[in-house]
Amino acid sequence: MSSFHSPAQRSAITPRLPGIRFVHSPGPTHVPDEVMHAMQRPMTDLADPRVAALIAACEAGMKELLNSPQSDVFFYASNGHGVWEAASANLGSDQHTLLIAGSGHFSDQWAIQTQGLGLSVMRTPHQEGQRIDVAAIESALRTDTQHRIAAVMVVQTDTASGITSDLLAIREAIDRTGHPALYVVDVVASLGATTFDMDALRADVCLGSSQKGLMMPPGLGFVAANAKALAWSQQHAKPRYYWSWQERKTDNQSAKFCGTPPLAHLAGLEVSLGLLKAEGLAAVFARHERLGGAVRAAVNCWATAGALKLHCQDPLGFSSSVTAIEVSQGVDPEALRVVAREKFQVAMAGGLGPLAGRVFRIGHLGDMNEPMILGALAGIEAAMTVQKIPYGPNGMAAAIAYLAKHTP
Ligand SMILES: *Cc1c(COP(=O)(O)O)cnc(C)c1O
Repeated sequence: MSSFHSPAQRSAITPRLPGIRFVHSPGPTHVPDEVMHAMQRPMTDLADPRVAALIAACEAGMKELLNSPQSDVFFYASNGHGVWEAASANLGSDQHTLLIAGSGHFSDQWAIQTQGLGLSVMRTPHQEGQRIDVAAIESALRTDTQHRIAAVMVVQTDTASGITSDLLAIREAIDRTGHPALYVVDVVASLGATTFDMDALRADVCLGSSQKGLMMPPGLGFVAANAKALAWSQQHAKPRYYWSWQERKTDNQSAKFCGTPPLAHLAGLEVSLGLLKAEGLAAVFARHERLGGAVRAAVNCWATAGALKLHCQDPLGFSSSVTAIEVSQGVDPEALRVVAREKFQVAMAGGLGPLAGRVFRIGHLGDMNEPMILGALAGIEAAMTVQKIPYGPNGMAAAIAYLAKHTP
């Protein structure tokens, strides 16, 4: 421990606990050693050709992951909130409005942040436990005969509710109306965990960040934009500078990042993209689906005692990234989290926004495998036992049976 800490601070710091601590928040997620090691590479000067090669590799890898070879990828040294702002700032105009589809806490926050930029935002309602209401989007577009709506902005997996919406159904609804609105997708919690094909969906913009399915520490965000979105932005968007796609669409390394590129994060991303590619995307998505299925198998057994249940009411909306578990009155999910983390080394997430105090969430995305999920579920069961939360029997057996059946 460095002398930075006073003696009092030093004694308050818990000594290192033996073994591995399990990170099951839906971001940040576990970071593989290969990525950590890449991020420790020594710095170079910015004129070093390795820097340009690294940036080019990250851009190419992202385009491949998104399946959008012609789109431009812009990286920002930011978290997900930063790239929300990047998308809104590059699309927002005083003559137009941005339609943000209600999906839960994350769409709420995106809308609030976009309004904070002085932009007009329209929102569709969200019903708890359900996917995005596609009919509400369609009707908003049909009503908008003046074409004031510049973009339909949706969150693929709302991490607060653990619900994944149907992006293709939304694409088809936009098409049915003939409305020219751009299609913008937040893939922060779903990229690298669930199928996302930017070109097949004809999504014009998508955005994500490093600390979830991309298996990196927090701190790197990206936005991909196609030619249609870039042209719209160039012609209509309000002035902006740091986030500006037009400023960043250049081969000049420092203009590309509006300053020094986040070299360590880019080095990590190059490796994490390589890990996804080596495993194969189909295998990556199947693994996430399988681990999510094992979690739900356990939760459904636990639920038979009546104290908790899956929050998602629509089986088509089950997320491969995160499962939100709703507790009945009298159960304190925050106290459960503390016991799970401090006694059994399993870090889960709590409820956000309207779900605060009503759910706990198990993240199962990123660099994750079967024994990690089984360990996490067992640790949570132990924490529920300590907390005297009633849970039905055979949860672990159900998760094991599910994995035994589905693991190739
Ligand atoms: C995590 C998350 C964000 C915000 O990301 P931060 O890095 O925490 O700012 C945005 N959208 C979704 C869907 C997320 O899961």
